Amino acid sequence: MANVVVVGAQWGDEGKGKIVDWLSERADVIARFQGGHNAGHTLVIDGEVFKLSLLPSGIVRGGKLSVIGNGVVLDPWHLESEIKGLRSQGVEITPDTLMIAENTPLILPIHGELDRAREAQISVAKIGTTGRGIGPAYEDKVGRRSVRVADLADDATLELRVDRALVHHDALRRGLGLEPVDRADLVAKLRAIAPTLLEYAAPVWKVLNEKRKAGKRILFEGAQGALLDIDFGTYPFVTSSNVIAGQAATGTGIGPGSIDFVLGIVKAYTTRVGEGPFPAELDDADGQRLGERGHEFGTVTGRKRRCGWFDAVLVRQTCATSGVNGIAFTKLDVLDGFDTLKICVGYELDGERVDYLPTAADHQARCTPIYEEMPGWHESTEGARSWADLPANAIKYVRRVEELIDCPVALLSTSPEREDTILVTDPFAD
Ligand code: GDP
Repeated sequence: MANVVVVGAQWGDEGKGKIVDWLSERADVIARFQGGHNAGHTLVIDGEVFKLSLLPSGIVRGGKLSVIGNGVVLDPWHLESEIKGLRSQGVEITPDTLMIAENTPLILPIHGELDRAREAQISVAKIGTTGRGIGPAYEDKVGRRSVRVADLADDATLELRVDRALVHHDALRRGLGLEPVDRADLVAKLRAIAPTLLEYAAPVWKVLNEKRKAGKRILFEGAQGALLDIDFGTYPFVTSSNVIAGQAATGTGIGPGSIDFVLGIVKAYTTRVGEGPFPAELDDADGQRLGERGHEFGTVTGRKRRCGWFDAVLVRQTCATSGVNGIAFTKLDVLDGFDTLKICVGYELDGERVDYLPTAADHQARCTPIYEEMPGWHESTEGARSWADLPANAIKYVRRVEELIDCPVALLSTSPEREDTILVTDPFAD
């Protein structure tokens, strides 16, 4: 049986929700391995809308095990409210259907406060955090001062962990002009939430390895996109965790050899939210049109996403760093009706051609895209379910993308509807 990792191969918003939903129906176990409650999937199942931001997509489907791996940072109060909301919609959540790794670091209220206090102070190029404390929680993990799920089981350990965190946080807060942390209140809050969390706590690494040996299908559900990876993204305009496929192993406790297929989700053009380099960005009518046809507005903020042509250089790079075996190519239908399409095939940097995004910020800023033009199509591809439904020029576009990124298309998505998908290679096939 195959285990599949799904990663966004651009800057997020590639349409992972639909693909993960499609795959999770076929999986036995669905595991999250990084990020926090900023994932934001909307699933529509039999007409009912479910909103998830922390729990894996499998939670809304009966008979599956959903797992939160140690690579995630977990806000216990958010978890409680997400579980409550889903239960009110009739979703059954029990320790048999949800497991949380005991070694998962917690997001505490002080992390969100720190996020917001820092964003208010920084005057140079904001990173644009969601203010949910995810970054500060990861900092504490690496700083070895996290409170982790297992610590909630023992009062003495819990207090020790809190004290360790507060030495650091109180010093920081003084510098930011915030009041010291109310220790007693924090400990009381953690004690109160402890039973809710401990109910689901499990040695996830062990459970996953047993499931794997029993031939179960495991789907590792990535959040955000590979260009936001803390190491391989456009630093510092990145998220605070590793996003690339290797994180599925370290973020849950399975060996890298247990991953059989990496599916990269790739949108037929490029978008980016917030600050940071974006060589193929369009500031013209074509960019406007991509944004409008693709509904490229932030789900929470309503803020317009930056749009550009497909950048094959970036996707070739993320396919390499994640070891992508096949891509799910989404939103092809958004390209319907353009006379000409452009694909970024390289960059010009100081008169030289480069075939990857350099790391140095000043080099990135000086990279100008080199485009290849292709004829567009005027027929509709929306809802196509087989290659025969696609215009010849659309097929040519897809084929050229495959060549340029050096990776085949496994799935092609032609509308937000689940069934409007062309299956080329089943990632779960043996
Ligand atoms: P994520 O952040 O990667 O999970 O992206 P989302 O799942 O939020 O997807 C972004 C939006 O694209 C959602 O509104 C989807 O319904 C929509 N979407 C996904 N695939 C397609 C597609 O093939 N065509 C069109 N037109 N919309 C799609």
